[in-house]
Amino acid sequence: MIDHEHYMRRAIELAAKVPDLPFAAVIVDSDSGAILAEGWNKTSIHPTWHGEIHAINELASSGSTFNSKVLALYTTAEPCPVCQGAILWSGIQSVVYGTSIRSCRGVAGGRSTYRRRKSSVAVPRGIAH
Ligand SMILES: [Zn+2]
Repeated sequence: MIDHEHYMRRAIELAAKVPDLPFAAVIVDSDSGAILAEGWNKTSIHPTWHGEIHAINELASSGSTFNSKVLALYTTAEPCPVCQGAILWSGIQSVVYGTSIRSCRGVAGGRSTYRRRKSSVAVPRGIAH
């Protein structure tokens, strides 16, 4: 049986690299137990570079072959919608998270990583249709 706590503890260690936004993830081959990739929050570089995205990119760029059906992603916090999409597109079969999005409110000195933006996006349709 896979030791979820072992992998979550590794994700927590990685999250300590970014004390202001302590979010990180590891991707595990659930058959062998090997950690295949690790990632942590790098939103200071790019706004969508969450720990999950970083780990997924690390796995994709590793050149390793892997069976996506055995991949498990451990993340310190419930994945945001961007990461949920990336996880689905990556074929990762299971996700284990530490804390919920709701519990993350108040992280980073009262800033919520998941707060709604007060901007809107214009989406013109039918261009060159
Ligand atoms: Zn995310």
